[in-house]
Formats: sequence, structure tokens, C-alpha cells
Amino acid sequence: MSTMLRLSNTLSGKTEDFRPFDGKLVGMYSCGPTVYDYGHIGNFRTFVFVDLLRRFLRQSGYKLNHVMNITDVDDKIIRNAAQHKLSVRDYAIKYEDAFLEDMKTLNLQQPEHLVRATDYIQQMAQFIAQLEKRGFAYRTEDGSYYFRIAKFPEYGKLSKKDFAGMEAGARVDVDEYEKDDARDFALWKSPKPGEAFWETEIGPGRPGWHIECSVMAREFLGDSFDIHLGGEDLIFPHHENEIAQSESLTGKAMAHFWVHSRFLLVEGEKMSKSLGNFYTLRDLLLMGHKASSIRYLLASVPYTRQLNFTFDGLKQAAQSVDRLRNFKLRLQTGKFPQGSNPKFAQLAEQTRLKMRAGLEDDMNTSVALAAVFDMVREVNASADAGEIKQDDVAPLLAVLDSFDEIFDVIRDGDNEKTRAAMEWARSVGKISPEQAAALEHSLSDEQVEALIAERNQAKRSRDFSKSDEIRNQLSDAGIVLEDTKDGVRWKRK
Ligand code: AMP
Ligand code: ZN
Repeated sequence: MSTMLRLSNTLSGKTEDFRPFDGKLVGMYSCGPTVYDYGHIGNFRTFVFVDLLRRFLRQSGYKLNHVMNITDVDDKIIRNAAQHKLSVRDYAIKYEDAFLEDMKTLNLQQPEHLVRATDYIQQMAQFIAQLEKRGFAYRTEDGSYYFRIAKFPEYGKLSKKDFAGMEAGARVDVDEYEKDDARDFALWKSPKPGEAFWETEIGPGRPGWHIECSVMAREFLGDSFDIHLGGEDLIFPHHENEIAQSESLTGKAMAHFWVHSRFLLVEGEKMSKSLGNFYTLRDLLLMGHKASSIRYLLASVPYTRQLNFTFDGLKQAAQSVDRLRNFKLRLQTGKFPQGSNPKFAQLAEQTRLKMRAGLEDDMNTSVALAAVFDMVREVNASADAGEIKQDDVAPLLAVLDSFDEIFDVIRDGDNEKTRAAMEWARSVGKISPEQAAALEHSLSDEQVEALIAERNQAKRSRDFSKSDEIRNQLSDAGIVLEDTKDGVRWKRK
């Protein structure tokens, strides 16, 4: 299935038709996490968007070569590692592992290559040596290296900043800066006393943040590739600097599409620790929110719009996921008369096309969601009126499967994820007494099924005190039993 996907390209400032260079294989690079702390929901908004795009490209028949870096060395990591008296590696690995777990919690697919900056230090030094040879980089007295932006007249083409009149040779050596004025940025930092460093062909030191992405992208994707992704905060300086480094060396366009997701705000404000509105994924799970609601909410607003994260929105997301799950359950377990009504196969096909059309239109997830909910509403009404027949079920379920190939919220693993978050919180002493008690009582799906079978057995042998005891145990664990004519159904409170 080929696609006419259109994407907003920050570089051209336009929404353009997407076609990969090679026709079938999409080379893409997304900037990954800096592993100095647990990932927050803003980070995950961007990672969820990247995941949706990945999945849609695959559903459209493309093969992917997707690279994501893990920034496991930067100013913050070095500072925090020193504070905790740990090596950079020992400090960063804890947060790298946490990030990988969080990716699983949110059903984020693994990129084809997930690469650590510290595994490519020698390649970074080589890259910088070549830039120096061609006059794009210079060494300062202390052994640091800077990129000479005056040598790269296209500097500013991504962020559309006008750097005319900039002061040649002015330098900035921190990894993050927001200044609008262009200054030569650090490619390599010589070690300060007590700081971690690597021995390389350009001397001892550590890489700047920007060089790692230029180097790792080139290692895996070559001089030019199809899509470069990240949150909008990366446009300047990070991506502008990646372009300067890569394109001055290769003379070729680094990426065809530069795609940026707009920021996530919390209750209309920028997330910040001082405002008390700073949430990690783990914070939300420990507050009792389900992984599927969080993924749904992050996915529901198109990447081209800011996402205003609210707790009200999260509650609605949970209801939407429930609605989809109940709908699927109804189709799977309902007793429908034999036969078919062609109207429903048509509705299924129309819904599939509308979902696709929404996603092709610059990954407009809200259009895709509206299409699927229109179908749910219509089919539910028809089922209430007794119009659905046995053979109508399969095409309707197939649409839900195709939806879930992208959105991946109907498949339920919420309980295991919440338990894992609680176990983690317990291991680091972050859990309240109520949460610890709930964890003691909580049961996995398999345990619930086994207890229900035991209770049925007890009822059959008229051991009512045992069957009541099991019912109470289930109730303490938040499990509600419903005795129906088709047997016992259960759900979580
Ligand atoms: P970092 O770990 O800070 O390097 O960020 C990892 C990714 O999260 C980058 O693509 C950032 O652009 C993105 N990001 C950070 N904060 C937010 C936010 N509030 N909303 C959306 N994306 C964000
Ligand atoms: Zn990057």
C-alpha cells in the first residue's frame, strides 16, 4: 500500500508530500533522551509522536531504518554523576534503563538502532578532526574545539533566524543555550579538573551535545537521509548546529524532512519543578492513571498543535479507551444472529479510509480518532437495535486491529504496568502506605482468572464460605464480579 503522506517540514516551512529517497526504505533519526533523570510527559509527547509516525509508515508498506540516540554524556550528567560520586556510566545507566522501561510502558516500538553517545566518542573526534582540516572547526588554548559558524553562510536556515551582524569568534560552551544570537558552539570540551574525559586523536575531553547526533546519524544513515525528528525546542540551537556540522563536512543536505512536534503544556503552563506541574510518566502511574490513558492523551492531539495536558483530559482519555475496549468486547462476546448486512462491511471500509486520510494529512490523529468513534457510535446503536449479524463482526474487528496497529491502546496491559511502577516505587522508597497496601492486595489477570475458577469450583461443591472468601479477596484487590448468563465476567474498579 503506498501512501501520500504529507508532513510539515520545518526546513521548507511548508507541508510537503513525503517520499523516501530510495522508494521503500525510510531512513529516520529522532533525537533521544538525555538520561540524567526520569523522562517527563513532555518528552513522551514527542516520543509518542515519533512512534505513531513509525507505525504509520510501516502500515503504509515502508521499511524503516530508524536511529535514536541516547545522550549519556552532557553537562548535566557529568555534574550529577560527580555529585553522586558515580562514574558517568554508572549514573546514566540507571536512567537509560528507566527510559527503556518507560518506552515499554507506553508501547513505544524500539527503533532499529538505539545508540549511546559514549559508544561513538572516537568517531566524534574523527569527525571534528575533519572539520578542523577544512577550516570549519578550530581549537582553543585549553584544547576545546568550536565550530566556526562564519564559515557556514547557511547558518540559520532551519530556525529562520537572521544572524547578520553576528560577532565572529564569540563563543558559547554550554550544551543548552537559548540566545538568538549565533555564536561559535562547542564541538569538544577539554576536561576540567575532576571531570570525566576520553582520550582521542584530538586530545582528551568529551563531546558537545550537537556533534553526537551528526556523527551517529551519519554512521547509520549516511550523508543524507529522509526524516529528522525532535521536539520544537530542538530546532535551535541543536538541529541548526547538526546541520552546520554535517553539511559543512559532506556538502550534502543532511535530512530531507525536519519534523518537530509542538510542546506539551500542563494546564496551560510550561512544565517546571517550581510550578509543581512537572510530571514524569512514573508520577502519573503512581497517581493511579493508566498507561493506556496517558498514551491515548499524548497521541490524541496532532503534533502540529501544542498539547495542553490536563487531568480532566486524562480522565476523558481513560473513558475513550474504555469505550473502545468495551466495544471490542461486545463484538467478540456478543451473540449475533447468523448472516450479514453489507452496510457494516462498507462502514468498516469507510472508517479505515477516513483513518488513513487523517493520518496522511500531516499525521492528523484527531481526524483518525473521530473516524473510529463515529463507527463505534453507529455500530453500538445498530447492535442495540439488533441489526448486527455474525458475519459483520470480522470486518469491524479488523478496523479496530488496524487502528490499534497505530494507536495501540485497546490491547490491555495496564494492570501489569501499574504493578511494575509500584514495585519500582517500593524499591526506591517512593510509595505511600495506601499504595503499598494496594500493592499487597493487587492481583494479575492470571491470578484473577485462577481465583474465579477456584470460586466456581467451590460453588459447585457448595462450599459457600470458601466462595465468599474468594469474592472478598477479589473485592479487596479492586475486582468486580458480574454473574451473567454466559458465566462470570470481571473488571477492575
Ligand atoms: P531531552 O531528554 O531533554 O533531550 O528531550 C528529549 C525529547 O523530548 C526532545 O525531542 C525534546 O524536544 C522533547 N521535549 C522536551 N520537553 C518537551 C515538552 N514539554 N513537550 C514536547 N516535547 C518535549
Ligand atoms: Zn540530536
